[in-house]
Amino acid sequence: MDKFFECRSHSEALADGRFSYPGSTPHYAPDRTFDTKHFRLVVALDFARKTLKGQSFIRLSALSEHASEMVFDAVDFKNLKVVSQGKALKFEYTGRQIKIHWPKPVFRGASVEVAIHYQVTEPKLGLHFVGPDRQYPDKPLQAWTQGEDEYNRYWFPCHDAPQERATTEMIVTVPERFTAISNGALVRNTRHGSTRTFHWKHNIPQPPYLVSLAVGEFTEIKDHWQRVPVLYYCQPGREEDARRAFGKTPKMMEFFSKKLGVPYAYAKYSQVAAIDFIYGGMENTSCTTQTALTLHDERAHLDFSSDPLVAHELAHQWFGDLVTCKDWSHAWLNESFATYFEALFKEHDMGYDEFMYELRGNADAYFDEDKERYRRPLSTKLYKNTNDLFDRHLYEKGSCILHMICKQLGEAAWWRSMNLYLTRHRAQGVETVDLINAIQDATGKNMRSFFDQWVFKGGHPEFKVRTWWDAKEKKVYVRVLQTQAVNDETPLYTLPVTIELRAGGKSRRFQEVVEKKEQLFSYPAPSAPDLVLFDPDHSILKRVDFSKPESMWVVQLTEDPHVLGRIDAAAALGKLGSPNALQALRQALFQEKFWGVQGEIARALAKTNLTGALDALLEGLRQIEHPKARRTLYEALGTFVSPRVLTEVKSRGGSEKGYSAEAESIRTLGRMKDPALLGFFKEYLKRESWNDVLRCAALEAVGMLQLSESFTILKEYSRYGYHPNVRMTAIRRLGLLGRLRGDVQTILIDLLSDKYLLVQLSVVRALANFADERATEALMKYTSGERDGRLKRAAEEAIRKIRKGMENEFPANGKK
Ligand SMILES: [Zn+2]
Repeated sequence: MDKFFECRSHSEALADGRFSYPGSTPHYAPDRTFDTKHFRLVVALDFARKTLKGQSFIRLSALSEHASEMVFDAVDFKNLKVVSQGKALKFEYTGRQIKIHWPKPVFRGASVEVAIHYQVTEPKLGLHFVGPDRQYPDKPLQAWTQGEDEYNRYWFPCHDAPQERATTEMIVTVPERFTAISNGALVRNTRHGSTRTFHWKHNIPQPPYLVSLAVGEFTEIKDHWQRVPVLYYCQPGREEDARRAFGKTPKMMEFFSKKLGVPYAYAKYSQVAAIDFIYGGMENTSCTTQTALTLHDERAHLDFSSDPLVAHELAHQWFGDLVTCKDWSHAWLNESFATYFEALFKEHDMGYDEFMYELRGNADAYFDEDKERYRRPLSTKLYKNTNDLFDRHLYEKGSCILHMICKQLGEAAWWRSMNLYLTRHRAQGVETVDLINAIQDATGKNMRSFFDQWVFKGGHPEFKVRTWWDAKEKKVYVRVLQTQAVNDETPLYTLPVTIELRAGGKSRRFQEVVEKKEQLFSYPAPSAPDLVLFDPDHSILKRVDFSKPESMWVVQLTEDPHVLGRIDAAAALGKLGSPNALQALRQALFQEKFWGVQGEIARALAKTNLTGALDALLEGLRQIEHPKARRTLYEALGTFVSPRVLTEVKSRGGSEKGYSAEAESIRTLGRMKDPALLGFFKEYLKRESWNDVLRCAALEAVGMLQLSESFTILKEYSRYGYHPNVRMTAIRRLGLLGRLRGDVQTILIDLLSDKYLLVQLSVVRALANFADERATEALMKYTSGERDGRLKRAAEEAIRKIRKGMENEFPANGKK
């Protein structure tokens, strides 16, 4: 799965501090009496009734001696009938599981066949029907499924756990004008009058959650990688956008296949752009479902790319699909890999700077979660809902940990390990120990202690580093302290670290092992170094407090070949804010070649809050061209509330090439909090743009003005009928306005029962801003039952945040 696809700045951390809630229990994969070998699903979709009629023909083999009971997960099924060899079988149905009583026990290894006939109508999860209505008359009619983590049980019977694997067939009948896409190869596509039947067959065993069905009126765009058909499906009229979004797929398939030494394994690779999809993408085996929001026009393409999403889901075809976590406690073997390989493709495609900048973004996303929400081991059995695990630890932190493994092993050994891991466990379930063993067998390196520190425990090292040159001894000293609180959860780390000294244009590197709370390293040096670097390749996931003389930071900002070194220097100089620091930042802003560093320099300049910094940023707007750097320039200018900024930003924003720079210019104008700008923002509300990014920005700005008309406008745009991005922005902003207006809460509570999950999620998050019992009562309903795991989790976190807010407002001891 890809992380929730969202407009920048839509996500909001909910402060909490604990990962496992009351009700969390250790989770283990369930027992099985039978192993599924193959199932053939024969289904027909009735769009008008939102109904699926199905028959599943399942071949199984007994796992236990004298197996007499067979259990399938199946939620809210109707018209159930179970048949074997022409005879009806006895079964019990709880509404969640079908328990079949076999007439006589089956011997271990013996094979049996069973057919389950059933029907599901408007399933609460798993199978989604979307289509036009009065408020969205142009919405295409589609049906798509979302199996991960445990939602396919809502539309076909299965042992719904990733340890199960079977070959599969999907024979699906749909109205004639529709295309149905599923796993594997298309065996047949036949028309009978007003309907059409697609027969898909998948020959490599896959877990049930990766079985997929997507149906709609699609244009098929044909591409290929070697002999494998590569197909893109989108609604008619979006063909160019689909090519723009998915066009690099063959290049990615080539890259992953070659590097891993394991060619793409399946009969075809398709990507369907699904309307109202509830994730960014889902890596169903050989047939990924992507959100249609990722399709984009030429202008968006200037500073937006679908490549990360496409690469992520494609990487899962190896990590997640070909080898699958045996149970969810090892889900990082799916998600951390997809996230890291997404970055590796970026390196291949766009270079090392982009790669490292992405990894820095990943590290920061994890650090935020660690600081604002909770800390947990990457691999843990303790959770409440499976979906809770799909967080910034599982994706971003894990990607940084894989990068450390790669750096510790070295490139060749890393790829050899990946190859052995994939070939040894091809089409099987895996646990973390399988990865450890594959690395050990491929390289001789025993990484158990690394995994104990990084995968089975939580947190990261926090270093305090100090350096000085002793003129008498002619030595450079580097003192390294590990300052993280060491406890059951977070260890004192043992890890290799590089220290680099630069003097007179020459650099020397020293390999050290950090393993104690405090260590002192020293190196002979005839003169004081110009620069000392700790981990100059930025391989380690860590926090560092390294106080260096200003002159060193200036050298680092201009001479460090590593983008992250320059970024760290910019941040440090921004904090110092001295005349020298300002001067260095100003110069670097224009000399710097990489947009990411330019952006960070802009932020550092803003931090100084000096007039000279403002001058530099405005000059930046005149000179710097990269659309992504320009976006950050606007963002940085937002910290200076002044008529000068207002005039300059207002006159330039409208002629930006990229959407995101223009959108940011609107938000920056919002930050000026000038009521006279309301008319300007209202004009923007009429403007059409890709995914409504400009309208979203205008709504943000309207919200920042905090006028009573702001409230009226936000209320209007939160209504069912607008683009989901617009609604989510309006809802978030309403939440922030809430404290000023008593009626906001009522509006939000009404929106809780919205039809679209992502809107519901934004309502839950907005309600977390209210310290009011009414909000908690409304949210309570969403913490349990047949609901998306993210919704339950968000509702629970919101309630906690509200209760905390109420405690702060009305403390138990009566003092305020
Ligand atoms: Zn994923």
